[in-house]
Amino acid sequence: MVAITGFTDSTTAEMRDFLEDVVSNHSDTLILIANAATRSRPWVIEVELHNLDPERLVFNLIGAHGTLHHEVPFSKRISGTTDLQIQLFKLIDHARKANPEAPVTSLEAKIQERAAIPTHVATVAATCLIAKTTVQVTLTGLHAPVCGGDEFWYLMVPQPGAPDEIRHGFAISQLETIPDNRRPMAAYYTTRRRRPEDGEIDLWIHLHHDTGVAGWAATAQIGDTVALWGPRATYNPPEGTSHHLLVVDETGMPAAAAIAEALPPDHPVTLIAEIEAPGYEPPVNAESNVDLRWVYRSQRGASLSKTVAALEL
Ligand SMILES: Cc1cc2nc3c(=O)[nH]c(=O)nc-3n(C[C@H](O)[C@H](O)[C@H](O)COP(=O)(O)OP(=O)(O)OC[C@H]3O[C@@H](n4cnc5c(N)ncnc54)[C@H](O)[C@@H]3O)c2cc1C
Repeated sequence: MVAITGFTDSTTAEMRDFLEDVVSNHSDTLILIANAATRSRPWVIEVELHNLDPERLVFNLIGAHGTLHHEVPFSKRISGTTDLQIQLFKLIDHARKANPEAPVTSLEAKIQERAAIPTHVATVAATCLIAKTTVQVTLTGLHAPVCGGDEFWYLMVPQPGAPDEIRHGFAISQLETIPDNRRPMAAYYTTRRRRPEDGEIDLWIHLHHDTGVAGWAATAQIGDTVALWGPRATYNPPEGTSHHLLVVDETGMPAAAAIAEALPPDHPVTLIAEIEAPGYEPPVNAESNVDLRWVYRSQRGASLSKTVAALEL
């Protein structure tokens, strides 16, 4: 397991997830990077990530004749997963230039696919606290295709003190060119409702902290300019699925509600939703095919996993 030091616990966990995905699913890309780094005939057959800190990433390059410890210093100190992604993209870019004939790797293919996803600029039309820790933000001016289901976006919102970084024509690729103290904050959010003919979308944003996008949402003003990168959707159950079990916390509620609403009425859904306490429920109208059960975090003995394990489906 890669040793990660020098970051907060939550950033460390996020980076670990990101790196584990890269190691498990994109080893071909790591080998491309490693072979460029060795500046000799390609010999690396496997790459392990050894450690990560704000200044560097250290690889173990494994070949037929042994292992080489290889340190890659970052071009600037990193503080979060976005910075790490930017550094990784730079390494891929460098490796590709060093080896233009190598086949396109899996991560490069994913990056190319994502580069085709457009960014849309929209403005806040209304905000409404719909539950104790959930604010509904309505955006207008969104003219984008509708994916349906658990359609989601990468939402970029202005930092306090830098309200004008997102303007008409803004694109996600500009994010990394903006200095840290002005760079829009960003996170993934699910469409709760779309009114495409009016260019409107409702998002449900869980107010878990007073920083980041959640912090912005708590005090968002009508007319704030934001950007949405997307849309995409992921829920794709195997054909013939006869019963849908959805297990969420507040952040997954918009997706669960959208998935349940999109299913025909004869498709049973069991929806287990964990929230803070009674009285914190977001306003979900469960149809007759939806068996909605709330689990309250603050209640002694309540447990999402135990609730799921005890289900008889
Ligand atoms: C595909 C997808 C769709 C999503 N849809 C929604 C949605 O519709 N609505 C929604 O509210 N969220 C949604 N999320 C989750 C949301 O992207 C994350 O909660 C994100 O971290 C919020 O960003 P932030 O800038 O507010 O906080 P960050 O800057 O990421 O984090 C700030 C602090 O808040 C903590 N934190 C982050 N999320 C939570 C949490 N859920 N509970 C407690 N502490 C937390 C972090 O650990 C950190 O300490 C979705 C995520 C994905 C991947």
